[in-house]
Amino acid sequence: MNPAAPTIPDATAKPAHAARSGFPVEKGMLRIGDVPLTRLAQRVGSTPFYAYDRALLSARVAHLRALLPREIELHYSIKANPMPALVQWMAQLVDGFDVASGGELTTALDTPMPARHITFAGPGKSAAELRRAVAAGILVHVESAREADAVAAIGAELDIAPRVSLRLNPAFELKSSGMRMGGGAKPFGVDAESAPALLEALAAKGVQVQGLQIFCGSQSLDGAAIMDAQSRSFELAMTLAREASLDLHCLNIGGAFGIPYFPGDRALDIAPIGEHLRQWLPRLREALPAARVVMELGRYLVGEAGIYVARVVERKVSRGQVFLVVDGGLHHHLAASGNFGQVLRKNYPVTVVPQQPRAGEIEHEVVTVVGPLCTPLDVLAAQMRLPRAEPGDFVVVFQSGAYGLSASPVAFLGHPSPAEVLV
Ligand SMILES: *Cc1c(COP(=O)(O)O)cnc(C)c1O
Repeated sequence: MNPAAPTIPDATAKPAHAARSGFPVEKGMLRIGDVPLTRLAQRVGSTPFYAYDRALLSARVAHLRALLPREIELHYSIKANPMPALVQWMAQLVDGFDVASGGELTTALDTPMPARHITFAGPGKSAAELRRAVAAGILVHVESAREADAVAAIGAELDIAPRVSLRLNPAFELKSSGMRMGGGAKPFGVDAESAPALLEALAAKGVQVQGLQIFCGSQSLDGAAIMDAQSRSFELAMTLAREASLDLHCLNIGGAFGIPYFPGDRALDIAPIGEHLRQWLPRLREALPAARVVMELGRYLVGEAGIYVARVVERKVSRGQVFLVVDGGLHHHLAASGNFGQVLRKNYPVTVVPQQPRAGEIEHEVVTVVGPLCTPLDVLAAQMRLPRAEPGDFVVVFQSGAYGLSASPVAFLGHPSPAEVLV
């Protein structure tokens, strides 16, 4: 098992139980946290459900630690998967958390993670969120002049020196990323060219900016593009720190590491990125001696450690096409239905697990897996070659540990929420 380089289960592979992911298959049965899937379903007590594997989470962090320089601090971005038990587990694995709302701040503060290792990014932070953040003593990534003013005023009122970092919207972009969050006109951060004036205004109010954050994008499988963005981020931070005489304690260069979802996607090779960072460190240490270098990752840490499991309710044939109607769908897993940022709908890796072991060769067929919602958007797999499934069997969607439940319209059509388990 190598969770670092999982192979996407291939719908054309035979038998599909050999479909590989980071999850082991023993005697034809998928295991999550070393529990056979059918047994886990009994333990959960209902379908659909999400299951996350602690061992895979730990292995993923260990893999990164082994390949990145020791000096690089790893933060977990809670928005990728805010399940409280999972966040608790991550607290002992990573060096810090990044939160993006007051709700996530509550989740983070409930864990053993010290407040000083929690950061808060996101546009439009409310006055109430900023007040809580300053009172908690976390590092606030300020993203506008309004936020800067509010944080300074709250600090003065509460007699607390607020811990402030400035989030920059750089002039450059992260090429070939799934979602761009920097470069050009963006609602995130402060345009790099406006940063000197804002830093001056903050200094005049007695607020010391301790950090810079540059987050360019998300879901990139292009190592060269990531390294290019990192180099540009370092250059930008060093220039700004020099010109504004900043005493930087924290330089957050974002993350962007993606995971493979679709046929043809290749897992990111971390080793060259680690080597590239290792080459940068002496220069950074010289220019910014007090700065810790932080990477914040969400999807890469948790995405491959989770599955979504639904049960087949009905096997339906319409004009020669087989539909597996399952008890879960886009209301639980919007991303797998292709409606969360995909331009062209593609199938997530999916397999079928029979509720009872079957003797002999398993027949395969091309099916479309749909949910119970009364909309043609509710498709979990279109025209995929899967082992033949009967009502009661399980359909498993891999690569479901990130942007799954919390990124889905659970209230849509009023079905119950799925369970979530950490195994
Ligand atoms: C969403 C987000 C992340 C995490 O992105 P992933 O693609 O899940 O790694 C990190 N930092 C910030 C500021 C974010 O908004």
